[in-house]
Amino acid sequence: MNDIWTLSEQHEGRLKDVSFELLARGRALADEVGCKLCAVILGNKCTEAELSKLFHHGADIVYYVEDPCLGDVVCETYANVLAYLISEYKPQVLLSAATTTGRSLLPYLAVRIKTGLTADCTELAIEKGTGNLLQTRPAIGGNIMATIKTPNHRPQMATVRPKSCRALAKDEKRTGELVHITWNPAWYDKRVQVLSTREEIGNEVSLEEADIVVAGGRGLKKRDNFHLVDELASCLGGQVGASRDAVDRGWKSYPHQVGLSGKTISPKLYIGIGISGAVQHLAGIKTAECIVAINNDENANLLQVADFAIVGDLFAIIPELLRRLGTQDREK
Ligand code: FAD
Repeated sequence: MNDIWTLSEQHEGRLKDVSFELLARGRALADEVGCKLCAVILGNKCTEAELSKLFHHGADIVYYVEDPCLGDVVCETYANVLAYLISEYKPQVLLSAATTTGRSLLPYLAVRIKTGLTADCTELAIEKGTGNLLQTRPAIGGNIMATIKTPNHRPQMATVRPKSCRALAKDEKRTGELVHITWNPAWYDKRVQVLSTREEIGNEVSLEEADIVVAGGRGLKKRDNFHLVDELASCLGGQVGASRDAVDRGWKSYPHQVGLSGKTISPKLYIGIGISGAVQHLAGIKTAECIVAINNDENANLLQVADFAIVGDLFAIIPELLRRLGTQDREK
């Protein structure tokens, strides 16, 4: 049985967390079909200690291609390398994260090697009987979940939404086979070169990276009341999220939206205030480590999935919380 591959991502020789999430997806699939799980990584100056983290998180084999021109992702060059590796090793599946890298590189590669690709999957499974990869993603604005397969071409390729799955616990005793692939200068596409890179510094919302997210919903009644959510988030050092209802009403901008048609987040602590917990909202928080729900309806969905459920009026609870957390008196 051919292997299942995940494409790892690195920056300046350090693996990105999304590489480990992807291995958790790949591990489940590889165990089901009974094949090896391989991580492929293109980059520069990744140490063996860094690469061994891929084994600790589930890989059996790591294919590493190193060259200074692989330090930055250039689709043309990266696709040349991957096309070679795929023709040589013939994986049955190639998964990548639905990051900027995955969403630009994999379509380019899919066209090059003439196979199918499903972008931004939230679920993956193996079809009984055929062994085909079932690739599920929201479609038509999130109104349906579409399951797509690639029965006639290999590899089956999918990008997977970051934060839609947790990495496996690190097992430092796990080892595997590290394969160094010799760089072939013919892979370098000199038509595209990275001249310089610039880090974006700004106030944009980075919910996906936040350890703490405090989100508000329609229960806040009006825009002016959202300051309660803002203050609690700032007091806890977290980011502000919102339900789609709150965003549609203009209480918060779209980058704050959490859920199926917003962001998928994976914080250590998520606090949902005046949010009912519709299935589309829950889709965005299912990998949160600890969910706290504050709602005056004891039957609200969010309370059912919460680790800590506080039933009561948010207009009494949040000012009290802020008071106990040591901020100024905010009874309103
Ligand atoms: P409501 O469902 O109205 O809930 C408000 C809650 O506040 C209630 O549970 C109520 O009991 C509580 N409340 C009221 N007053 C108080 C009080 N004083 N104290 C405490 N609690 C109080 N939704 C998302 O969030 N994200 C998405 O990405 C998303 N994508 C969608 C995609 C599609 C295709 C569709 C069809 C829907 C999508 N939705 C999404 C919308 C989703 O179905 C819900 O309509 C939405 O999440 C409801 O938002 P809410 O919980 O703020 O409002």
